[in-house]
Amino acid sequence: MRTVEGKRQPCGSYLLEYSVICRLKNLKNAFEAKYGESPLFYTCAPGRVNLIGEHIDYCGYSVLPMAIEQNILAAVSVNNSGMIQLANINPQYKDYKVSCSEDIAINKDDPKWYYYFLCGVKGIQEKFGIPRLAGMSCVVDGSIPPSSGLSSSSALVCCADMCQMHGPVHFFSGRKRHCAKLIEFHPLRATDVKLPEGAVFVISNCCKEMNKAASSHYNIRVVECRIATKMLAHHRGLDPSKVSKLSQVQTELNASLEEMLAMVEEVFHPEPYTREEICKLLSITSEKFSTEVLSANTQQETHFKLYQRSKHVYGEAARVMSFKSVCDSEPVDAIRLLGDLMNQSHVSCRDLYECSCPELDQLVDICLKSGAVGSRLTGAGWGGCAVSMVPSKKMESFLKAVRDAYYTPDPRRAAMEKQSLFVSKPAGGAALFLED
Ligand code: ADP
Repeated sequence: MRTVEGKRQPCGSYLLEYSVICRLKNLKNAFEAKYGESPLFYTCAPGRVNLIGEHIDYCGYSVLPMAIEQNILAAVSVNNSGMIQLANINPQYKDYKVSCSEDIAINKDDPKWYYYFLCGVKGIQEKFGIPRLAGMSCVVDGSIPPSSGLSSSSALVCCADMCQMHGPVHFFSGRKRHCAKLIEFHPLRATDVKLPEGAVFVISNCCKEMNKAASSHYNIRVVECRIATKMLAHHRGLDPSKVSKLSQVQTELNASLEEMLAMVEEVFHPEPYTREEICKLLSITSEKFSTEVLSANTQQETHFKLYQRSKHVYGEAARVMSFKSVCDSEPVDAIRLLGDLMNQSHVSCRDLYECSCPELDQLVDICLKSGAVGSRLTGAGWGGCAVSMVPSKKMESFLKAVRDAYYTPDPRRAAMEKQSLFVSKPAGGAALFLED
């Protein structure tokens, strides 16, 4: 198996783990059995764990993830069948077939697995003006626990992107020993962040799933941040209709994050805002509020916690920058400082952004008692995984203590433990493989 990489990252060449080679062989067999031809190429996209920076990407702020070895693989052939045919190694994800000439309509309220894939195909077609496919067959195999905050759906979309381009892409590389990435959005750019030696990151799944696309929690937070943006802009004499992200207010005012946090204290009251109060303060009608501020699945919301949400976002954005600067400056107490930032992040997610859940809080608590210097929910929250920073020498005793306290006592969790509690090894980026 040969790897094709576009821009080769300085992080070195792509090495395939034995388990990935076995999965690729299995994919090839499944593909041949299903379609009676061999795959033309394979694509691979890793999951990722966000070390810090939760729920701030859609507000325009940088996040700090690390690629993990769990990934989505796809075996692909491009042909003249006139159909896009999708199948999955996991029987839970049913086969799907659609004619290439059909407009791909994606139902956001019913997020079937193949919609993510079709989204990737459609996105790349639109972005690069690629003509419709003449036909494509795919079999997908994933090892990322879904709806756990490890970006299984993004990895699936990324795999589909590469099928479409059938060109080499190298999105995400964390292959340097102990490296994460600072991802900035304006402009989009990724910078290596070297993590300190002497600690590892352990991922633990609380075993409660949260499907972002099927729930409105996530959309309510997005809307609350948008309202807070407009209120802050209005208060400071900016045009609220020109800004939709909290980072834009900061940029427009040329203020520091500390100044934004002080402004939040000054402008907002902690009690939730009603629709009426918001409309009055922004001088807009209730209709305009419904159509221009709320999203389709947040129309029924009556109360909005603007103080708490904006305080979380500006505070978390500042923590990401502090995390990076500790990694860059490598002080002697780096591990303790990073652990403190992760703990503050969890408290903010739990109390201000309210995106944790009792299971995650219990798990984070157990991780801290079991020897982690920092532990926090990662991903969207309301379920999914925690990520903990653990001194390397305490790793074995940490894993045992978490297993004994969280997984073993509950039969359902005990059954899921193997794929739910693991040390995250920095992994390679997205890649496209050809057979030798
Ligand atoms: P995440 O944080 O893991 O991206 P989401 O809830 O946003 O969680 O997305 C999970 C969805 O991604 C699943 O419900 C499924 O539709 C899709 N998905 C994840 N893994 C696979 C897989 N191996 N094969 C097909 N679809 C998958």
